[in-house]
Amino acid sequence: MTEQPLISLKGVFRHYPSGDDYTTVLKHIDLTIHRGEMVAIIGASGSGKSTLMNILGCLDRPSEGQYLISGRETSELEPDELAELRREHFGFIFQRYHLLAELDAVGNVEIPAIYAGQNREKRRSKAQAILQRLGMGDRTHHRPSQLSGGQQQRVSIARALINDADVILADEPTGALDSRSGEEVLDILGELNREGRTIIIVTHDRNVAARAGRIIEIRDGEIIADTATDVASQADASGGALTRKQGKAGLFSGLRDRFGEAFAMALRSMNAHRMRTFLTMLGIIIGTASVICVVALGEGSRQHILDQISDLGTNTLEIYPGHGFGDLKAAQITTLTVDDARELGKLPYIMAATPTASTASTVRVGDKEVGAQVRGVGQQYFLTRNSKLTEGRFFDQSSVDSLAQDAVIDTNARKTLFPNVSGSVIGKIFLLPKMPVRVIGVIKSEERGMGSDQSLSVFLPYTTVQTRMTGSQTLESIILRVRDNTDPAQAEKMVTAFLKQRHGEPDFFIFNTDSFHKTVEATTQALAILIASIAGISLFVGGIGVMNIMLVAVSERINEIGVRMAVGARQSDILQQFLIEAVLVCLLGGLVGVLIAGGFGLLFSEFNTSFHLIYSPMSIVIAIACSSLIGIGFGFFPARNASKLDPVVALARD
Ligand code: ADP
Ligand code: MG
Repeated sequence: MTEQPLISLKGVFRHYPSGDDYTTVLKHIDLTIHRGEMVAIIGASGSGKSTLMNILGCLDRPSEGQYLISGRETSELEPDELAELRREHFGFIFQRYHLLAELDAVGNVEIPAIYAGQNREKRRSKAQAILQRLGMGDRTHHRPSQLSGGQQQRVSIARALINDADVILADEPTGALDSRSGEEVLDILGELNREGRTIIIVTHDRNVAARAGRIIEIRDGEIIADTATDVASQADASGGALTRKQGKAGLFSGLRDRFGEAFAMALRSMNAHRMRTFLTMLGIIIGTASVICVVALGEGSRQHILDQISDLGTNTLEIYPGHGFGDLKAAQITTLTVDDARELGKLPYIMAATPTASTASTVRVGDKEVGAQVRGVGQQYFLTRNSKLTEGRFFDQSSVDSLAQDAVIDTNARKTLFPNVSGSVIGKIFLLPKMPVRVIGVIKSEERGMGSDQSLSVFLPYTTVQTRMTGSQTLESIILRVRDNTDPAQAEKMVTAFLKQRHGEPDFFIFNTDSFHKTVEATTQALAILIASIAGISLFVGGIGVMNIMLVAVSERINEIGVRMAVGARQSDILQQFLIEAVLVCLLGGLVGVLIAGGFGLLFSEFNTSFHLIYSPMSIVIAIACSSLIGIGFGFFPARNASKLDPVVALARD
């Protein structure tokens, strides 16, 4: 016989490691199968039939010996070349069908054609036609769970046929079926053989084996009988060459199609495993949203604090009697005087100086009476505060000297006292308890400290306040503005020395707005670091969630990976699908996280008007990037490892 056999095994062994040693499951198998044969491999359970079958189908490799397909040595083939053999030339039928649960009958049948790069319409109609022929025409859109065992086995036969396999390998195809469905499946296989296909059936059942033209009996990994040696082989005259496959799409459109299909498969599988997809996303959503919100909250409150203190002015010194705010004896100290203020104002590094004497009082306009802070100040006060006039003018030295009843009011006071005056309020009169006062100017309200920005302020010459209201010469404070070219800390030292000398003892204290600023800024820096750490922790927790689900998801799907490889998926096909899934899940999760963070910002501004969330684009990018990298990393690497497994190992993981 000169003709080259389709399949030929020479001295094949298969060992499995067991402990330090190994067990030999196949022992020196020599076997030749020709095109067009129908072969049954029979033997008791555990005799090595499936092992042999997996080697024949290139799902597994021999440990020793040669396996030639159409004269080609398979041990020299790359994993993708083996995948091509499985895809184009072999068709598998498993005892347990190995259909993908999330796909309907047509979807399952067309998988090998997708990996072969056949175009959509063609493979669809072909899948329909084959299912029709196998009596499944009315079940094409049923999922495996909606089909009986016999029907599922027909779907798996259709899947084996979609790429016009030369060889059909059936491992106990009737093992899980009732006898009638089993008969039907065997009838189909017989018919396929009559059409010229090579069929190899593994079975432990003599009645099944009797359907085949040739029976090979195997016991303990050895062939003990082969009817082909008794009877002449009924090999087909067409020889042992594999059929050429035509009608494949071009390389580029093939790749594009495969990517499109991988994308569609990823979407389908995400949809089929909604819970798992959702849980994975949840980790990313929580991670992203919390990082963005925490950073935005922190930045918002930091800005709020900085805004509030910026109204204090940057280089002023406020001198108070006593030893600190809240000093009970401060009221008895009367050494802080107008003269001090005047002398301090003469120092070269002081730009402006003013005494202050304040009192709370009622203010009346017509029959309206409100409470206000009446502040007695010198004319330079407005310079120390950098006050902005909105109307009129400030009072001057002569107002101070003449105890003028002229007032500058702030915009809060203007709004409350003269709500109905749309034009100028200059020249309007209001009443303090003991005197009428004329408005000569309006300034913007100061925002001093937290929450006090609603109070009304009325500024009068301090002489007027002392004489006509408090009746005391004691000052509340002296406010100095340091020249811009002088370091406020230095100025504070010099002022302290100067006053100590005048008073003979340190019976005053100085509030330096500049060092206050620095302290607050340092505090908000610490706040920012705290916030960043909290954000980091959120991201870490979200990442662990994503990692866990991804690891579970991939190990749960190793069987699916095995099925896909068995029907001819390349390693790259598997990776592509998992990568697309991971990227989609992460991007969608990140997007939802950003939206939730934005929604939280809106909700927050509804209930809190004093400050807003300030979103940092950097935090958004980092949050999405980190959780996506985690998701993709933990989705991709286990999938890559799985795609490198022998299909038979992946398939065995149920
Ligand atoms: P059959 O299909 O004839 O029932 P198998 O080929 O499945 O038998 O198994 C033959 C022998 O090989 C059995 O004893 C089984 O325990 C052993 N075997 C199969 N697969 C493995 C494996 N992955 N590792 C170790 N032993 C295995
Ligand atoms: Mg078996």
